[in-house]
Amino acid sequence: MAIRLNKKSSPYGVKVPERKFSEKSPIEPAPLPEKVVIPLQQNIGAPAQALVKKGEKVLTGQKIADSDKFVSAPIHATVSGEVSGTTMLVNPPTGQLIEALVITSDGEDRWVELDIPQNPESLSVKEILEKVREAGIVGLGGAAFPTQVKLSPPKDKKIDTVILNGCECEPYVTSDHRVMLEFGEKVLSGLNIIRKVLSPQITYIAIEDNKEDAIKHMEELVVSLGMEDLKIVPLKSKYPMGAEKTLINMVLGREVPIGGLPLDVGVVVHNVSTAKAIHDAVFEGRPLIERVVTVSGAVKSPKNLLTRFGTPIRTLIEYCGGMADNANKVILGGPMMGIAQFDLDFPVVKGTNSILVKEDEPIREHDCISCGMCIEACPMRLMPTMLARCAKDGRYDECKANYYIDDCFECGSCTYTCPANIPIVQYIKVAKKELAKRVPSK
Ligand code: SF4
Ligand code: SF4
Repeated sequence: MAIRLNKKSSPYGVKVPERKFSEKSPIEPAPLPEKVVIPLQQNIGAPAQALVKKGEKVLTGQKIADSDKFVSAPIHATVSGEVSGTTMLVNPPTGQLIEALVITSDGEDRWVELDIPQNPESLSVKEILEKVREAGIVGLGGAAFPTQVKLSPPKDKKIDTVILNGCECEPYVTSDHRVMLEFGEKVLSGLNIIRKVLSPQITYIAIEDNKEDAIKHMEELVVSLGMEDLKIVPLKSKYPMGAEKTLINMVLGREVPIGGLPLDVGVVVHNVSTAKAIHDAVFEGRPLIERVVTVSGAVKSPKNLLTRFGTPIRTLIEYCGGMADNANKVILGGPMMGIAQFDLDFPVVKGTNSILVKEDEPIREHDCISCGMCIEACPMRLMPTMLARCAKDGRYDECKANYYIDDCFECGSCTYTCPANIPIVQYIKVAKKELAKRVPSK
């Protein structure tokens, strides 16, 4: 049976200029920072609490923060040196203040002794989950959901399918692409661990067709490693193909219900870089202290940099030759879902897949001309035009009751397509924040 299935496409979403300037740039290590700033909230769920104090010496890979909450992940030192104190930062996705530990490097990168299993293949599911948790792994596609939680579906949810997500549909971003090309074997090893934990009946590897070299490479690896039961699904490059719900619909034809999760339709999706991190934790005992970050856009040399968490984004931009003279915006993530960042001393965190420097012209918003293009583009089949209208008027309850605002995953396809330049997704984000304030805290 063929390993590669026929190409699939989506009628929804938008075709965006890809601008993958760094796709041919091999991963290179970013300079080791002199000082790292490590936020204690780097995942969806509960923040971690510091386990070290000012003046304490730490080793690279040492656990420095943890939480007793289920939906959380520990955090590790990313350089060896001394804890110089704490600081407060604005968390870009939420706008809230978060505490961060500051470590001054001793320049020696001395590692903690790693707990490398003698026979990783014989680990039980429970032992694997413990290793994944202790390594602090979260979804590296950008969502930063704790991986051990995603690998522990409730008992009443039968998972029959695992999809490994190698789509990377945002323009500019190439970190997952390079990880598949350069660490494909580790990605597949991580995928095997995921399969051991979830016991799916079938596993797919989904990759957009603008990465033919990665499709071919993964295909060859699958054959050489005797993993022919995996199916590789090329998907027509169209944003937001890599969004979980779009991906599940394209690969399996299943619709995740409104307000539901992939596991409600028997599916778990993991990103390729997350799979590699799972391999590193289980086979090498390595905690998650670094990731590949694409630095692209208006910089002299776009690159893919293996970067320690806590490295200031300014350092990486300078390492890539600095910003162009007319650059006026720095975005963490891709241009569609990323968040503009005002403080260039903000550090790379687990969810940072890209740093994008832009030269955007100011855009003037016009009145809606009721063209319906935003509705056609929406992968969630929502009515973005009505969401924007209600949100702009402060009619937030209507956004929720009549237009299913909770199902919007803020992909930005509606904004991208709108000929009236209405920042639809920004209005939606404001409405969501206002609605969230009304939920009484527990
Ligand atoms: S309404 Fe939400 S999900 Fe739909 S296109 Fe706009 S941002 Fe994407
Ligand atoms: S795309 Fe813009 S102008 Fe067209 S209906 Fe949607 S909001 Fe209105």
